[in-house]
Order: sequence, then structure tokens, then C-alpha cells
Amino acid sequence: MNKTVIVSNRLPLQIQIENNILKTKPSVGGLATGMKSVHEDGNGLWIGWSGLTEEELNEDLSNKVKNAVSKQKCATVPLTQYDVNNFYFGFSNKTLWPLFHYFMEYTEFENSQWESYKTVNQKFADVVLENINDGDTVWVHDYQLLLLPKLIRDKKPNVTIGFFLHIPFPSYEIFRTFPWREELLNGMLGSDLLGFHTYDYERHFLSSIKRILRLDVKFNDIQYHDRIVKVDSFPMGIDYDKFHDAALKHASLKKEEKSELQRRLDDHIQAGSNAKLILSIDRMDYTKGIPNRIKAFEYFLNKYPEFKEKVRLVMLAVPSRSDVPQYQKLKRETDELVGRINGQFATVSWTPIWYFYRSMPFDNLIDLYVSSHVAMITPIRDGMNLVAKEYIATRTNQDGVLILSEMAGASKEMNEALLINPNNFEEIADTLKHALEMPFDEQQSRIKILQKRLQRYSVEKWAKEFMKSLNATKNIDAVIVAKKMNEENQDTMFSAFKKAKKRLLLLDYDGTLVGFKNNPLDAKPDTNLIATLDKLNNQEQTDVVIISGRDRETFEKWFANKNYNLITDHGVWLKSKANDWNMLERLKTDWMENITPILETFVDRTPGTFIEKKKYSLAWHYRKADPELAQIRTIELNTVLTSLISNNDLSVLKGNKVIEIKSSSVNKGRAASRWLAQKNYDFIFAIGDDWTDEYMFEELPETAFTVKVGFKKTQAKYYVKGTEIVRDLLSKFTN
Ligand code: UDP
Repeated sequence: MNKTVIVSNRLPLQIQIENNILKTKPSVGGLATGMKSVHEDGNGLWIGWSGLTEEELNEDLSNKVKNAVSKQKCATVPLTQYDVNNFYFGFSNKTLWPLFHYFMEYTEFENSQWESYKTVNQKFADVVLENINDGDTVWVHDYQLLLLPKLIRDKKPNVTIGFFLHIPFPSYEIFRTFPWREELLNGMLGSDLLGFHTYDYERHFLSSIKRILRLDVKFNDIQYHDRIVKVDSFPMGIDYDKFHDAALKHASLKKEEKSELQRRLDDHIQAGSNAKLILSIDRMDYTKGIPNRIKAFEYFLNKYPEFKEKVRLVMLAVPSRSDVPQYQKLKRETDELVGRINGQFATVSWTPIWYFYRSMPFDNLIDLYVSSHVAMITPIRDGMNLVAKEYIATRTNQDGVLILSEMAGASKEMNEALLINPNNFEEIADTLKHALEMPFDEQQSRIKILQKRLQRYSVEKWAKEFMKSLNATKNIDAVIVAKKMNEENQDTMFSAFKKAKKRLLLLDYDGTLVGFKNNPLDAKPDTNLIATLDKLNNQEQTDVVIISGRDRETFEKWFANKNYNLITDHGVWLKSKANDWNMLERLKTDWMENITPILETFVDRTPGTFIEKKKYSLAWHYRKADPELAQIRTIELNTVLTSLISNNDLSVLKGNKVIEIKSSSVNKGRAASRWLAQKNYDFIFAIGDDWTDEYMFEELPETAFTVKVGFKKTQAKYYVKGTEIVRDLLSKFTN
């Protein structure tokens, strides 16, 4: 039975050792809840670090940990103290975390930490590989494991791999500064499906893929070698019922059942008719904008002094990554700010900020959520922000106002919150006033809509949707009609070739026999290729034809001393073995002088593009241009050309990073038909990579072996990955 394996940096368990006795308890975090059904299903397994380093465990304890976690359907990845320092506190939290949150000034690029990141990703891969079989599904989580999908795929190509990034993916302009950018992207592309919280992160990722790896992207499919990698956004939700139900239960508590914290909160609310609480909860992290929030609150008190002694900011900051210097600095700054503002504004009966630096048990969190009239969640940058969603879920009376930073991923789905720019104090102060004075009707209508969405798109639903999309990637092969040219198909083909008496091989040149170069004139045939072509061409009863869009002059030069069959200019010229060049189609060229100036204006406006003037066609190449600009320009050029060519018998062909304008009455299909008419072939093989080769595939008889190079939609029967495989295939014809 196939299974699903979840991989994350930490296991969803808390493990403690006291006096050599091991205690485990499940984590209560959102991810653990969301993954519950995936984990519990069948032979599901969760792989991650236990939280205890190898140095903390002797052999006996290590075995105890293994046994204890395996009872919870988990397996551990052994990490040393060095790994934790360099991979986790180092590379993950001093490089990836700040860079992906746009804190470039905090980002360290340290080679030894990158090495450790690679080593630890390999350690995770080793444990995953020990535990998976063909047909299994693996779901990898988050920025600590960006290299893992490729490490798994390289060893086990027949598993389905999903990856979800829980933090933002930054814009290309940020990501391009990362020294190991190609390796990181290739690591991620080992997946079949890549998930992000928001469409913005998804489009930033795709933009890096296009610009850095220069891959083709169609909608949200990335063409990656012989695979398609899907990219999509899945905004993570919360365990809505858990928070909502806890709040309902809380409302029915008798006075003596209430917590100490709740009683103190009640005291404040009952102190005056307009007394209100403003809530702020985050991990103590520089991305959360804690100092900004405090300063904005100070600004508010100065701008609207009528709220003094009435409102109080209740601020919970949960200690986090306190081994990293920037976090220590943030803690000092926060302490000082709170001290200064409380000192400045406090009266005998009122302190403006209640500040807690600790984590709180769930029941106290609920106390805070239900007691606060306003939640002020203003991160500078945040992948999602679950606190904002939890606050809404606890508003069982549908009162309360959420002020939310537009830099939080959650803001994309929480339009009914009051969205602010966390750097604009004026806006925050005015919004806070608006929130404190908002009539109940308005509060209710906003909260209602927010609750409805959060209830529907819960964390369970998020996990289900991701798994559904991941499972759907298993059927991508069926969408592409062609079959992979595997060993079995090759056997059939080569035995037909051996038996045949009259054989024809039609070979496209660019993208098939040779790879693409930035300058087309650099794609000359190399000696290996010539050797293979010679051998093929000298075989008895075998006609080899190179059929190309290249112009006659180039092929004349490249194949000057060869007696190959050549068709050039998409079928205008033919040279068969010993004979001289012969024109297959009589073509006009007078249109060229009208079209050339138009193409020139596109070259002027699109850096990196150029015109190739052939005898019978014009080609506009954009391989080196910015991919997004090129995309816009190709649409524009297509429109301009379509209106011009309608009564000129011309057609516009979209090739591989090139647009070509040529006469409609010539194409590779017509040329191939002419060739076929000469003899009665009993074996036909045709191979090509491009749109123009589709004409050829279409014209050939049903019995022909037609092969597409690359993983694209095609009329061909088979496909192969790239030019290397093509060469391998051709040399097999000569054996
Ligand atoms: N939280 C907690 N204990 C606390 C305060 C907060 O467990 O004392 C939880 C909170 O309920 C939320 C999570 O921590 O589920 C914070 O998630 P969020 O997405 O807001 O921020 P992150 O820490 O993931 O950046």
C-alpha cells in the first residue's frame, strides 16, 4: 500500500528527558492539526528532528527516543549541536529567514553555514529514502528543507513530491542577491507541486524561475526537463472550531472559574465606560514590527489624548530564537520602548502598555482574544499570520475589530479587516481611532464575512486541497499525448528498422541535433555529430534528411564536403546527396523590405533581441531578452504582423524563443510529403522539437515513428528529453 510521508524540520512532538526518563507529548501547533488526517491515514509517517541533539543522547536514550516516536508514526533525523548551530540558527535563521522577509541588512552569506545547510538537507534525505518506496507521496515543509525535494527525486524518481513554503518568497530583485540561487531553485524543483500562501509569493517565485533558470512557464506550470512542475497558492487556515468553541466555553465561565489574567482584564474593562483593550500577540521577531507598533501607539496617544486612561495595549511577545544577536537586540529595544512610554504616560490608576515576554497557555490566549476590543497585528513582513485569524475565530458575539498589516499574507484573504501600512504611523493612529469608535453594526458585518471564510477554509481544508492538487500531478503524463520513448518502444522501433528495406530518417536540426545557443551561428555541428551523421548516411537502404528552418547558405557552409540530403528554409531548398541545390517552392521576397523596419522597432525597444535575415524569411530572436518583457512584445508583434500579412500569403511562426515570418505556402510538412512521394518507404522516423516540426509529424503516415524533443504538446507519438538523448538514439541506428 502506498503511503504519504510528511517531512518538516521539527517533529510534531515535544520530547523531554528528566532523570533519564523520556516524556513525549504532541505539539498543538496549527501545522500538526492540519496534517493530522494526512498523518493518520494508512501507513503515514512524519520525519523530522526530535529537538534533542546527538550530544544530548546516549545510545540508550537514543533508542528510547526512536521507539517513542515510532509509536507516534514518526521517525527522527539525527542532528548534532554543530548542525543545529549552523544549519538552523545559522543558515535558516540568519540567511534565509531575513532574506525572504526583505531584511537584507540582517542577511549573512556564510559559506560554512551553507555547507551545513546542504549536509543537513542530505541527512533528512537519507532518512526519507530509507523509508519510502516507488509510488509513495512525500510532502516537505518550509524553508529549512528547500534542497530536499531534489535530493529525494534524484534517488527515487518514482515518488510524488510536494513542497510548501510557510514564509514569503521574495521578489526577484531580492532573491537574485543570494549566492547559491540556482542550487536552491533546482532543489525546490525536485517537487511535482510547489505551494505558497499567496499568489504574490507564487508570482515572485515564477519570476525568479524565468529570470535565473530561464525556464519556460505557462500559467502556473514550469517546464523542467522532462517534467512539469506545478505551482499554486494555498492560504493556510486555522483550526477554527477549536478557537471558536473555546471562546464559547469561556463565555459560560462563572466568576470563580475565571483565570487570574481574566480577572485583571475584566478589572480594566469595568474601570470606565469607554475602557478598551487593544491586543498585540507575536513571537519576538523583527519581522513582526513590534517596535513600530509601540511607537505608533505612542503617536496615537499624543494625537488623540482623549483616549488616555481609557485604552490599554496588551502586548504578548513570545520568546524566540534568542541565540541570534538580532533577536537579542530587538528584545532590548522593546523593553526600553515599553519602559519609556509607560514612564511618560502612566498615571496612578493607568499604565498604557501591559507587556508580557513569555508564552502563554492556550486558555490564557483565549482570555486575551475574547477580552480585546481591537487586535492590532502589524508585521513589517509575515508569510501568513495565524494570530489574526485566531482573533476573528474567537469573536463569538461578532464584535471586535482587526487592524492588520497589508504586509501579512493573511491580509490577502481578510479584506474586511482594517488594512494598514505598518510604516505609516499617521494611518495607524487614525485607523486605531476608527476601530475604537466603530459602531457595532459595522463590526458585525465585517466579522461575519471574515468568520465565514475562516470556518470554510480551515487548516484541514488547506491540507486536503494541497494533497488533492499533489495527487492530480500524477496524471500530468496523460495530458501530454506522446509516450516517453523508453527501452521497450526503442526495441520495437529498432527491430522494425532492421527488417525494413527502404528507410527514411527525417531530422530537424536546432533543438534536436544541437542545443540552442544565444547566437544561432554558434550552433555549428560538432565532430561527434558529424561522425554519427556520416555513419547514418552511409548505411545501405537508408535515406537521412536534415530538414530545417535554417537558410541554405548556413548549411552549405557547415556541410560543404558532405553528401547529405538537406532541406532548408522550412522547405524552400532541397539538396539530395550528389545533386545540386534545387528550389522546391518559388517564393517572393518583396514583402521583406516592408516587414524589416517593423521588426527593427521591436529590436530597439526590447534589449537582448535581434533580427536574423534569411533569404526567404525573417526571424526575430528573443532568447536573451527579459522573459516577461519578451512575452509582452511577442503578443504585440503578433498583433501588428497579423494585421499586415493577411493579404500577403505570409504566416507568422512561433518557434523556440523566436518569431519567424515566412511564406504560407512553404512548410516542413509539404517538403516531407514531396520527399515521401519519391519512394515507397517501409520505415519512417521523424524527430523535431519545434512548432514547425508539427507540420512534418502531421503529414507522415500512421506507421511512422514520430518523436518530439522536449515535454510539450505534440502530434508526435513519442517524446524524448533533450538533444543528448537524441544523439544516443541516432547512434543506436548505426549499431
Ligand atoms: N501562540 C502560542 N503561544 C503564545 C502565543 C501565541 O502558541 O503564547 C501561537 C498562536 O496561537 C499562533 C502561533 O503561536 O497559532 C503564531 O503563529 P503566527 O502565524 O501568527 O506567527 P509565526 O510565529 O508562525 O511567525
